[in-house]
Amino acid sequence: AVSVDAITKMFGSVKAVDGVSLSVQPGEFVALLGASGSGKSTLLMMIAGFEAPSSGDIKLDGVRINDVPGHRRGFGMVFQNYALFPHMTVAENIAYPLRRRGMSGRDAEREVTKALKLVALDGYGARLPSQLSGGQQQRVALARALVFRPPLLLMDEPLGALDRKLRQQLQMEIKLIHKEVGSTIIFVTHDQEEALSMADRVAVLERGRLQQFGSPRDLYEEPATAFVADFIGEMN
Ligand code: ATP
Ligand code: MG
Repeated sequence: AVSVDAITKMFGSVKAVDGVSLSVQPGEFVALLGASGSGKSTLLMMIAGFEAPSSGDIKLDGVRINDVPGHRRGFGMVFQNYALFPHMTVAENIAYPLRRRGMSGRDAEREVTKALKLVALDGYGARLPSQLSGGQQQRVALARALVFRPPLLLMDEPLGALDRKLRQQLQMEIKLIHKEVGSTIIFVTHDQEEALSMADRVAVLERGRLQQFGSPRDLYEEPATAFVADFIGEMN
């Protein structure tokens, strides 16, 4: 579905992303894994269209989309600070991307009801974000990103702020939703266990460079570099 080709991002003299190439298959769940500062968010923002690469291409179904602005790419996005509109109810927040696409009131309402059910928040539509727990807000953000069935869903440490139990619960939910909706997902995390348990394939980044892109099994059994072996080994 989406691929990046020899993509590099410089911030002044800092190479945040350094010649990364990878190709994500339709329907695949890919994790971008790396320590803090390894370039995960920068790579995701370039795919999203909110950072321009210094060099290299981003392609969607083989077509170069470097020049397509982020809001025109039609990707769903969930970021760590989930930024719901505070003055809108949960239902209005979720309906927002539908209304922007010109869906009418009743159709949008039906989709919102479905989306709330999907993230196990039926009955919460009339609340304001401030009346929800952090995990519930996170699920609303997820529902809002999923409601228009984006072909590509980009998530930047969406579970970072949550406690262990809620995190595990939402990991399962996201996997179920992935199966149900069938979107392609790129999921950023610095948590090895999260990446290996959720993703079909994991891209390991170190200081902007792609160390390995493979299945969890590949990373365990055939780590491509000493860094990957150490990083994956740290889990145990
Ligand atoms: P984290 O896990 O902490 O979120 P990350 O893997 O997402 O880290 P990035 O945010 O992509 O890392 O940052 C990669 C590198 O680029 C870091 O050295 C960071 O300091 C630098 N960087 C990121 N954004 C900018 C910016 N807007 N201006 C200058 N440097 C930046
Ligand atoms: Mg980041």
